[in-house]
Amino acid sequence: MLIADRGIRGLVLRCRGGCVEVSGDGLLRADAGVTLNGLIRYSIRHGLGGLEAWAGTPGTVGGGIRGNAHFGGRLLGEQVVRVAVASRVGEVRELLGSELEFGYDSSRLQRTGEVLLAAVFRVSPQEPSVLRETARRSLTHRKRTQPLGLPSAGCAFQNPDPKRDVVPAVCPVQPVR
Ligand SMILES: Cc1cc2nc3c(=O)[nH]c(=O)nc-3n(C[C@H](O)[C@H](O)[C@H](O)COP(=O)(O)OP(=O)(O)OC[C@H]3O[C@@H](n4cnc5c(N)ncnc54)[C@H](O)[C@@H]3O)c2cc1C
Repeated sequence: MLIADRGIRGLVLRCRGGCVEVSGDGLLRADAGVTLNGLIRYSIRHGLGGLEAWAGTPGTVGGGIRGNAHFGGRLLGEQVVRVAVASRVGEVRELLGSELEFGYDSSRLQRTGEVLLAAVFRVSPQEPSVLRETARRSLTHRKRTQPLGLPSAGCAFQNPDPKRDVVPAVCPVQPVR
């Protein structure tokens, strides 16, 4: 995260840790501070599919939902059934996934400043070996296209609309000539 030289007027919360649990048929609940990779490892171990394609995405459930993390044309918001949020004045409420205004790199949380506390994701039973293979393919793609060995603040540009004939801002890593 980059913070402007003017600093931040207000409270800074750092959400880390928490737990993941099966919360009903085809539902997985995770606290906002759980890492996306921790959530995916749990889902694979328990043979629950739906999230494995995001393997290797840095950050937490809270950050991933606020920015609606995308991978391979899919958006994390597609898997979100409901969430718990705290408003700017500390009121806790539940919202359905459909109320989160998910778009490309965007969600309602950016507009309201609400803090995500926990989320429930839609998952379905699948062979862990199949899920592991999908996760491995995502990680291989990342290793090929992202400089994972270097410090990085993530993407500075949004990918263009794939329906338009334009070249994405993110290119595979190539040696500098
Ligand atoms: C190498 C690399 C690869 C990446 N690949 C992808 C990718 O494939 N797809 C993709 O979409 N992104 C990708 N990213 C971006 C990255 O996944 C996001 O930056 C990450 O999801 C942010 O999560 P975080 O927990 O680190 O949030 P932070 O960086 O800590 O915060 C990001 C924003 O989310 C807000 N936020 C954090 N937690 C909460 C919460 N609980 N409630 C409300 N707001 C909150 C913060 O206030 C801040 O505005 C990549 C980044 C890197 C460095």
